[in-house]
Amino acid sequence: MLIESMTRKASIDLLKRARVARLGYIQDGQPYIVPMSFEYDVDYLYGFSTEGHKTTWMRANPRVCVEVDDLATTEKWETVIVLGQYEELPNTDEHEASRTHAHALMQKRPAWWEPGYVKAIVDGKERPLEAMYFRIRIAQITGRRGIPS
Ligand SMILES: Cc1cc2nc3c(=O)[nH]c(=O)nc-3n(C[C@H](O)[C@H](O)[C@H](O)COP(=O)(O)OP(=O)(O)OC[C@H]3O[C@@H](n4cnc5c(N)ncnc54)[C@H](O)[C@@H]3O)c2cc1C
Repeated sequence: MLIESMTRKASIDLLKRARVARLGYIQDGQPYIVPMSFEYDVDYLYGFSTEGHKTTWMRANPRVCVEVDDLATTEKWETVIVLGQYEELPNTDEHEASRTHAHALMQKRPAWWEPGYVKAIVDGKERPLEAMYFRIRIAQITGRRGIPS
C-alpha cells in the first residue's frame, strides 16, 4: 500500500459526500469525540446540534477538529482532517442570513434534523429538546489516501 496526500479539491469532495463526521473538542485538557453530521460550504462546515455537553465545551473552547473518512478496505481509504473554530448561529437578526443558509444546505439530506432534534432518554431522564445551528470556520484541511499496491 502507498499513502499519499490528497489535493484540497479531493479533500473537499470527501467533506461534501461524507454522511457522518467525528467532531473533536477539548476542555481543561480532556479531549472528546462525537459522531455528527455536517454540510460543507465555502470555508465552513454547517451543523445542527442539541444543547448539551458538546455545546457547553465548545463555547468554553471553540478550537475544534473534524474527521471524515471513506474506508473501502484497510488498503483503500481516504481520510480528511479539518481544524477550525466553532461559531454559534443563535436566533438573532445578526445571524438570520447564516441560519437560513445553513437550513438550505441541510435540506439536501432527508430527515436532517435527526438525531440533533429527537426525543432522547439519557440515564432514564428525558433531555430538554433544545437545538441550534452552528458552523465551523475552517482554518486547515489535510487529506490522506491509501492506495493498494
Ligand atoms: C451518525 C450520527 C449522526 C449524528 N448527527 C448529529 C447531529 O447532526 N447533531 C447532533 O446534535 N447530534 C448528532 N448525533 C448525536 C451525537 O453524537 C450526540 O450523541 C448528541 O448530539 C448528544 O451530544 P451531547 O454533547 O449533547 O451529549 P449529552 O446528552 O450532553 O451527553 C453527555 C454525555 O453522554 C455521552 N454521549 C453523548 N453522545 C454520545 C454518543 N454519541 N455516544 C456515546 N456517548 C455519548 C458522553 O459521555 C457525554 O459526556 C449523531 C449521531 C450519529 C451516530
